[in-house]
Amino acid sequence: MSCPLCDSPGGTLLWRDDLCRIVLADEPDYPGFLRVILNAHIKEMTDLSVADQQRLLQVVLAAESALREVMAPDKINLASLGNVVPHLHWHVIPRFADDPHFPNPVWGVKQRGTPHAASSDLDAQLAVELNRQLARAREME
Ligand SMILES: [Zn+2]
Repeated sequence: MSCPLCDSPGGTLLWRDDLCRIVLADEPDYPGFLRVILNAHIKEMTDLSVADQQRLLQVVLAAESALREVMAPDKINLASLGNVVPHLHWHVIPRFADDPHFPNPVWGVKQRGTPHAASSDLDAQLAVELNRQLARAREME
């Protein structure tokens, strides 16, 4: 069976290592919407070794830190669902009080039409900050 996260990067690739990758999702309502995607087709966190669980969460937290640094959102939403695509991935979503669904989940009922404004070189800014955060995470090991 084909899997969209095995068949393609799943967004604009900002960072990757042997375990996982960080992509900027193609979500026009949500500039800065990141996904941390395991490279291997594995379904649940508890299917990973403890070391890989910890590394994956470290990358998720680095993505959160990068978003806070670059976009200063009102809130970060972390979610791992995988009901539609059972290939481990985490959504790391910067939320703003004026974004289309706030305070609902981004998959909930829309409250307004206009996305929160973001700079045009957001992908480059996030890539720089992700590399900085992940280099720092490595140093602290
Ligand atoms: Zn897959």
